[in-house]
Amino acid sequence: MLLSLKDSIDWMNIMNQKIQDNKQYLTKLDQAIGDGDHGINMARGFNEVVSKLSVTEYESVSDVFKDVAMTLMGKVGGASGPLYGTAFLKMSLASKGKEVDQQVFATAVNDALQGIKQRGKSTEGEKTLVDVWAPVVNFFQKEQEVLPNALINCASEAVEESKTIKATKGRAAYLGERSVGHLDPGSVSSFYLFESLAEVLEKGA
Ligand code: ADP
Ligand code: MG
Repeated sequence: MLLSLKDSIDWMNIMNQKIQDNKQYLTKLDQAIGDGDHGINMARGFNEVVSKLSVTEYESVSDVFKDVAMTLMGKVGGASGPLYGTAFLKMSLASKGKEVDQQVFATAVNDALQGIKQRGKSTEGEKTLVDVWAPVVNFFQKEQEVLPNALINCASEAVEESKTIKATKGRAAYLGERSVGHLDPGSVSSFYLFESLAEVLEKGA
């Protein structure tokens, strides 16, 4: 895989579209096990992201990721803003001065995962977006070649798996056992992120 400057911008535009289309759905998921603002938070954040990207000239993927990070950190309240912001900041640092091939991307997405865990004091198996990012990182590190459909399958299986987990981090943790059987909103929005990436890679392939 090779993620060009244009690809990185397309990625964010497709992500924004999915988030706007699924704003109510994400809200509904967060109403069930959180406070019902995840759709609103993400929709506001990615709307600001695409506005920022549309009026700025970029020279590198790293610069795009940096503005995504700054915008999400600045505009999104709740847990998800700082977490997604940290992820993109780490990806910006890891891709600085580099062509973003699979190896660079695998490192970038792994750095992002470590940043999320550090920031959220979280780890795998707590029913958070970490449970989607971790298998996706593994996918980029292990696969010889990134097949877009395989990426989508990996992320979607991880989301389904999140249903079975009892939440021990974030607001859903207050529900304990009652969180079992529900999808984690942040895992679903992370699924959209990687599904968007797969669609960009599919176009480029
Ligand atoms: P808030 O929980 O502050 O209302 P959002 O509703 O926007 O923020 O985001 C909730 C999502 O954030 C959860 O579904 C979960 O995936 C993720 N999340 C919450 N807390 C953490 C944490 N400590 N570490 C990792 N992810 C977390
Ligand atoms: Mg919430």
